[in-house]
Amino acid sequence: DNDDSVEQAVSMTKPEAEAAEQPMIRFDQVVKRFGKHVVLDHLDFTVARGERVALIGPSGSGKTTILRLLMTLEPVNGGVIWVGDTPLTHQYRGTTLVKASARHLREVRSRIGMVFQHFNLFPNMTVIENITEAPIHVRGESKEAARARARELLDMVGLADKADAHPSTLSGGQQQRVAIARALAMDPEILLLDEVTSALDPELVADVLGVLRDIAASTDITMLIVTHEMGFARDVADRVLVFDEGRIIEEGTPERIFSHPERERTQAFLKAVL
Ligand code: ADP
Repeated sequence: DNDDSVEQAVSMTKPEAEAAEQPMIRFDQVVKRFGKHVVLDHLDFTVARGERVALIGPSGSGKTTILRLLMTLEPVNGGVIWVGDTPLTHQYRGTTLVKASARHLREVRSRIGMVFQHFNLFPNMTVIENITEAPIHVRGESKEAARARARELLDMVGLADKADAHPSTLSGGQQQRVAIARALAMDPEILLLDEVTSALDPELVADVLGVLRDIAASTDITMLIVTHEMGFARDVADRVLVFDEGRIIEEGTPERIFSHPERERTQAFLKAVL
């Protein structure tokens, strides 16, 4: 829990606490390797508070890795990831940035919710127990308050009647809507969506995307969306980042990227998926 090793190659000064100006997410020269394979090579990008950013690009280009780094499911090999004015991957000792302790990681991570491709619900718990688990056990909410909030969220995702069901009795689309409610139950500032419809039968996709469109329209939560659903990206995203081999090769509004892609690699990718 106490790693005092001083990080090299971090020349950042502590940003001013001007929350409004400050990006919600900032990747600063982030390096990620798996063995010798460099997946992200000094990646820089920012996401503004309340912004919805879609990450698109060919399979294997590093999109999911970016979400997994933000959830601290993987360590970075270089650079710093910031969440607001807090370095996610590092923490200050005096004025020096050192690798973050497990406790610091847990604290920053609690500001982020993630929905995965394969739902990842707890199979032995009911729907409402899935949703209230973290609010009760991580945030220390009362059972009553957590259950009341869970019922609101279930209503929002159209599953008010499924509170006491077990996940195995639900369709994939219903399970994914429970997973969305569970992610929102912790009131995250950031919602990460990782290919949330790619494990679903085609007829169930529309319901899940509809719920996410509603959430995008009715909240100011910052969203980072990895998707192959270009229609969804076009509707929901303020900005699209096109990845190829761990680099951002093009970025712009959905209108610009989908109607007037400039790079040949982007054109080829869109031709293949649209
Ligand atoms: P995308 O989401 O764009 O499909 P990923 O982020 O999943 O891409 O993967 C980027 C690259 O990192 C791929 O080459 C993949 O094989 C590799 N990779 C991802 N996770 C691991 C892992 N746990 N171990 C080894 N290689 C990995």
